[in-house]
Amino acid sequence: MNDIKQQDNEYVAHTYSRFDLCLISGKGSLGYDENGKEYIDMGGGIAVNTFGYADKIWQDTVCEQTSKLQHTSNLYFTEPCVTLAKMLCERTGMKKVFFSNSGAEANECAIKTARKWAHTEKGPEYSTIITLKNSFHGRTIATLAATGQDSFHTEFYPFPEGFAYATPNDSDDLAKVVSEHKCAAVMIEIVQGEGGVIPLEADFVSAVFKVAKENNLLVIVDEVQTGNGRSGMLYAYMNFGVKPDIVTTAKGLAGGLPLGATMLGDKVADVLTPGSHGSTFGGNPVCCAGAVSILSRIDETLLSDVIKKHEYIIKELSTADGVVSVTGMGLMLGIETTKNAKEIIAECIKRGVILLSAKNKVRLLPALNIPFEQLQKAIEIIKEVVAL
Ligand code: PLP
Repeated sequence: MNDIKQQDNEYVAHTYSRFDLCLISGKGSLGYDENGKEYIDMGGGIAVNTFGYADKIWQDTVCEQTSKLQHTSNLYFTEPCVTLAKMLCERTGMKKVFFSNSGAEANECAIKTARKWAHTEKGPEYSTIITLKNSFHGRTIATLAATGQDSFHTEFYPFPEGFAYATPNDSDDLAKVVSEHKCAAVMIEIVQGEGGVIPLEADFVSAVFKVAKENNLLVIVDEVQTGNGRSGMLYAYMNFGVKPDIVTTAKGLAGGLPLGATMLGDKVADVLTPGSHGSTFGGNPVCCAGAVSILSRIDETLLSDVIKKHEYIIKELSTADGVVSVTGMGLMLGIETTKNAKEIIAECIKRGVILLSAKNKVRLLPALNIPFEQLQKAIEIIKEVVAL
C-alpha cells in the first residue's frame, strides 16, 4: 500500500484527495484491500458499479464481446451499439441516441443539440442554456460553465458564453431568468447530486416543463447520476410523469465501463447530422454490450427492491443519533450529520464500510443489488459512527 501511495503521489496528477484505501479486488458489494480486509461498499464507485464488483453475468457478457470485437470505429455498424440504442429508446420513448464516454460528454452533446435545434427553429441568437444554481454537469469547459456553482469556476476563466442560472424550486425566478435571455433550453438534475443530494420539488419539476412549453424551450434532464435505476425508476424524471426532450446519462449505464448516452426525443431526433458531432470511442462494442446486460436486468423487481432498501435506510437513519436529515431518492441518499462528514467517512472505512461525501453530507450510492444483510450491517456501523 505504501508503495502504491508513494508512486500515486509521484506520478498521478493530484486532482483527487484520496481516502487511505487501496482496493485490490471485489465481489458484489464487498471490496478487499491488500491485507484481505473486507469492506462493504456503500459508494458503488460513485454510482457506477450498478451490480457491484465483478458481477458474473455482466463479466461474462463483456468478456465474450472482447473476444469478438473490442472496437471498430464509428465508420461501421456494430450490433451492441444498435441493440443498446433500441433498448434505451423503447424504454424511454426517446427516438435516437448518441453515445459518448462520460457524463460530461453526454451533456456536451445535449448542449450542442439544443443550440443546433434553436439555431434552425428560433434563430442563431437563441443559444442560452438555463441551468440551476447548485447544479453539477461536468468538468469540461462548457459543462463547467453549465454547472451552477462558482467554486468550480475559479481559475478556469474564460468560459463559453450562453449559460444563465435560475434558483432551484423557485418558478418565479426561473420565469424571470428565461425572460432575460434568448434561450434554447433548460437543463436540470432531478436530484442535485454533487450539490448535496437535494431532490427538486415535484411542483418545480412541473414548472420547468410549463415554462419551457410557454417559451418554446427544450428540457434537458441530466440523469448522469440519477439514471439507470438509481432513483427507483429507470430514469428519475419518470417519477414525475414528464417527457424531456433530451435525457443524458452515463455512470451506472455500463456497470463500470465508460459510456455516456444522449437520448434525443421527437423534436431533436434528427438535429444531429453527419459531421455535426462524433466520438472515437463512443458506442464502443464492449461498453455497449456491458450496458445491454445491465439495462436488461433493471426490471420491476429490481426497482421495487431499490425502493424497499430506500425505505429501510430512511427508517433507520432519519431518527438516528447524530443525523440531522436524510435526503435523496432510491439508492441515492445524502445524510447531514452533526459531526464532520469527512471524519465519519474515515472512521467508517476503518470499520470496513466505504462511504462517499457530497458537499457537507455523507452520500450513499451502493450497488442496486446490494444484499439486504450487507446493507443492514453497513447501516448499523454508520449509525454507531455518526452517534460517536
Ligand atoms: N452530470 C452529473 C449530474 C454528474 O453527477 C456528473 C458526475 O458526477 C457529471 C454530469 C459528469 O460526469 P462524468 O464525470 O462522467 O463526466
